[in-house]
Amino acid sequence: MQVPLLDLKTQYMGMKDEILREIGALCDSQHFILGEKVESFEKECAEYCGCKYACGVSSGSDALIIALMVEGIGPGDEVITSPFSFFATAGAIARVGAKPVFVDINPKTYNIDPARIEDKITPKTKAIIPVHLFGQAADMSPIMEIANKHNLIVVEDAAQAIGSEYEGKRIGSIGHYGCFSFFPSKNLGAFGDGGIVTTNDEKRFELLKIFRNHGAQPKYYHKYIGGNFRIDAMQAAILSIKIKHLEEWHAARQKNAAEYRDLFAKSSIGSKIQLPAKAEYRVRHIYNQFSILVMDDKRDMLKDSLNKAGIGSDIYYPVPLHLQECFQYLGYKAGDMPISEDTCKKILALPIYPESTSEQRKYVVSVIERALA
Ligand SMILES: *Cc1c(COP(=O)(O)O)cnc(C)c1O
Repeated sequence: MQVPLLDLKTQYMGMKDEILREIGALCDSQHFILGEKVESFEKECAEYCGCKYACGVSSGSDALIIALMVEGIGPGDEVITSPFSFFATAGAIARVGAKPVFVDINPKTYNIDPARIEDKITPKTKAIIPVHLFGQAADMSPIMEIANKHNLIVVEDAAQAIGSEYEGKRIGSIGHYGCFSFFPSKNLGAFGDGGIVTTNDEKRFELLKIFRNHGAQPKYYHKYIGGNFRIDAMQAAILSIKIKHLEEWHAARQKNAAEYRDLFAKSSIGSKIQLPAKAEYRVRHIYNQFSILVMDDKRDMLKDSLNKAGIGSDIYYPVPLHLQECFQYLGYKAGDMPISEDTCKKILALPIYPESTSEQRKYVVSVIERALA
């Protein structure tokens, strides 16, 4: 049996006609930059995220960069974030010229540990970027408390977590900014790159729109140095169709996760793996990934066995950000972030995509059972 880590084709086949009709109409109009399709998608997305405003941008990475640019964060500033994330989180901080400052994670949620943040705050600290990793919210209440106390901006890296909730609130509506990605493998994926920044602050929203257009206001009068951070109208049109199905897809992923938990509980695997732990605070996990921890140094062996059995899996992430070669200048060394480093050695993502079947999951669990026996 073949079980890919992700299969986007089934999902596409269900909406192919509608999407091709929409692309055809857009081609007929030849209106590819901003305009009506982008505005209507921004409204739908803001509403979905429980935010007043949303500004469509070119990618999740650019969403983070533009939020930092609007805040004027740059050289001489420090931004606190998690070392256990996709590169773009820390990359955005470095790309605006600021210094990434890492704070280790909570071993259960894989998200930044708020109890360790205040130690790292200096007079140079300007912002915190919590990441809602794999679709589960970071512990936002203590983070917002610390930020308010020290007058810091909070930029939520919500790239993997659209529709996820923290204590009943949609993520992206809690901090000053929510940064989302529509990379094809996210729960809401475009046909290429795209992203969006949410905010509840009208001034910030106006600035985001100016910055994504090279800081021009009006056209050709540049008040700021922005960039070309626009989302394509084509992507916005496609995403407007796909967002209508997002709740169904989340529900399917949640059902699949529950099935895995059931199957693993009934298996002989016991404590040889650790399932994704549920946070102690109230969350709605949207399972962009279902990442287990594999004990006793057996992760790479297990990944190999899965691969041989036709099952896709992947390691998010093999190297924590503080130990990446490009960040050597920051002066971190192995042992500085023990929980993130340990998690990088054990983590393994299993197939969880909405259209995957119960038969496939039974097969995955049986192969893991055999490999770890
Ligand atoms: C995907 C992702 C990004 C970047 O998004 P792109 O759209 O690929 O630029 C940023 N942060 C996290 C946590 C991500 O998973």
